[in-house]
Amino acid sequence: MTSRYEEIAGNLARVQEEIHVATKSCNRTVDEVTLIAVTKTFPASDVHILASLDVHHYGENRDGDAAPKAAAVPGTWHFQGQIQSNKLKSIASWAHVIHSLDEQRHIIALDKVAPHRIGVFLQVSLDGAQGRGGALPSDLSALADSVLQSTNLDLMGLMAVAPLDQSSDEAFEKLATIHSIFKVSYPTAKYLSAGMSNDFSQAITHGATHIRVGSSILGSRPAPQ
Ligand SMILES: *Cc1c(COP(=O)(O)O)cnc(C)c1O
Repeated sequence: MTSRYEEIAGNLARVQEEIHVATKSCNRTVDEVTLIAVTKTFPASDVHILASLDVHHYGENRDGDAAPKAAAVPGTWHFQGQIQSNKLKSIASWAHVIHSLDEQRHIIALDKVAPHRIGVFLQVSLDGAQGRGGALPSDLSALADSVLQSTNLDLMGLMAVAPLDQSSDEAFEKLATIHSIFKVSYPTAKYLSAGMSNDFSQAITHGATHIRVGSSILGSRPAPQ
């Protein structure tokens, strides 16, 4: 029987090989891409295994699920889930980076409760629908301005999830264009958080610097998150 360690190690090796191939195909290097292992729904014991395999960036979608794991395993903890105002204070207590900010009131509230510096990605909607979260491209400057005016938040870049009804290539090409325009006004926002298990290679070829990969490393999750 394969142990959980062997299962995760084997999956991780395949993902790392795919990252290698994708970066090579576009003349980038693997150290330009931060792999965030999305550990949502999986136990802290899996996070310990990832740490022993030298993966130290972890992504979570739910505060209640994440807080005890972040307390148990040191590393860089990312939050990429839907934000609820009443959870912001708790999220800020364990998260080092938040990928899913798309509302000014959340940025202002987060800045007030942050007990340490927090890196911020603004989530952009690539199809104009709010279904999978994200601000309209035309709203990004106002959001970026409030991050720059904050005391505790660092503007890192943009994040997006490819819409279900578009090819990921098409979606990430659009995202790259939005990002290149955005960076002219906000040069510190140089990072791009894009790509999940199904589409991280395409995201890398379109400039992703942070990929958020769950099921390809940890296996399928019981329920949709
Ligand atoms: C769950 C989730 C991921 C990881 O998804 P996989 O398909 O399991 O790799 C990445 N980003 C966001 C926003 C998520 O909610």
